Amino acid sequence: MVDFQLSEEQIALRDKARKFAKEEILPVSAKYDKSGEFPRPIYEKAHKAGLMNLGIPKQYGGPGYGSLDSMLVVEEIAAADPGVATSMYANDLGSAPIILIGTDEQKKKFLTPLTKELQFISFATSEPGMGSDVAGIQATCEHKGDEYILNGNKFWITNGDVASLYVIFARLKGTKRHAGLCAFVVPRETEGVSTGKPLEKLGHRASDTGAVILRNVHVPVENRLGDEGIGFLLAMGTFMHTRPAIGAFATGLSRSAMEYAINYAKQREAFEHKISSFQAIQDMVADMYARTEAMRLLTWRAAWQLDQGQDDNIASSCAKLVGAEDTMKIATDALQIYGGKGYLENYRIAKLFRDAKLFQIYEGTSQIQRYVISRYLFKEYETIMKGF
Ligand SMILES: Cc1cc2nc3c(=O)[nH]c(=O)nc-3n(C[C@H](O)[C@H](O)[C@H](O)COP(=O)(O)OP(=O)(O)OC[C@H]3O[C@@H](n4cnc5c(N)ncnc54)[C@H](O)[C@@H]3O)c2cc1C
Repeated sequence: MVDFQLSEEQIALRDKARKFAKEEILPVSAKYDKSGEFPRPIYEKAHKAGLMNLGIPKQYGGPGYGSLDSMLVVEEIAAADPGVATSMYANDLGSAPIILIGTDEQKKKFLTPLTKELQFISFATSEPGMGSDVAGIQATCEHKGDEYILNGNKFWITNGDVASLYVIFARLKGTKRHAGLCAFVVPRETEGVSTGKPLEKLGHRASDTGAVILRNVHVPVENRLGDEGIGFLLAMGTFMHTRPAIGAFATGLSRSAMEYAINYAKQREAFEHKISSFQAIQDMVADMYARTEAMRLLTWRAAWQLDQGQDDNIASSCAKLVGAEDTMKIATDALQIYGGKGYLENYRIAKLFRDAKLFQIYEGTSQIQRYVISRYLFKEYETIMKGF
């Protein structure tokens, strides 16, 4: 059976997130975007409202939402401010590796405190010298007795400067490429951990992004996630679970860009007519709607598959790729409908245009999603039509 009908509970959850986004985020979105200040009060309220740590299971104190439920929340938050959504959802990115392979002990120790009071957890594979090529991680870990010693520099880490926990990916000294990558939960207060200044970005300015530096950081063996050498698979498994959220971010941003463009076109006049009466404008808005619907469906399907326990990284990559690429087009066209005013920072569309670009970059660039999908098509996909 295929069913696209949301349950009453899901509609209530979406409406709660929508109300929060409209009342608590939208009114202060431009202020935080301009100042670059980290909007902690928003996260305090979101945490209280149960709109953070969406995937943490109930037994560890979280709301235990499924992937599809989470996508409903994420779309609404991103519709108000994609930057706020990035930092808010980064806790789900950071906790995903622990949810996926952590022991019961690790889940109790690291996940439960996140649900008790506002705290951030960051996910850190990227480094100054690599982002796409996760097997190229240079940070090292050395097993000595009942602990590991970590060294290296992590870069581009969302919430890097505000997090109290990091999931750090590092390689066993002397190993190369995929083999030997390990993952550790590292509390920020551990000696040898420091952070860089928040980076000044094109968009998503309400989200903190920065460096995490590790200098002879001693981490107990019990903080290692899974076995030695599991790091690469764990990172990929995490992305399979979190990439649909980028599809949901994109859907929220696209929906808002389209709505602002519709509102603007209905009142702006040119050549003695509302610009909404011009077919060129109508075509752009129709495309925006169809593409937004398509990216939502891909996102929901990928999330639904995850909820069914189906491991399908291709579905996740498709949701991320289509969401990221089409959002860039939608934000560009929406800005075009504003004409010159779209180029001004005092209209919301300029911010959405800047924010849209990030979806093509983080959690695997669009090129990497195409690489993942095309590798599947040439290696595993069975053609129905034989011959050529
Ligand atoms: C705001 C922001 C937040 C981020 N948050 C986090 C975070 O929380 N945690 C974290 O670990 N990382 C994070 N990142 C890092 C992000 O995941 C990387 O920037 C991204 O994966 C790309 O890596 P890179 O910047 O090193 O680019 P590179 O990997 O150097 O790529 C440069 C260009 O080459 C292309 N390219 C690379 N390899 C291939 C290939 N095989 N085929 C075709 N094209 C290729 C890329 O698509 C890109 O266009 C964040 C980045 C940003 C900007």
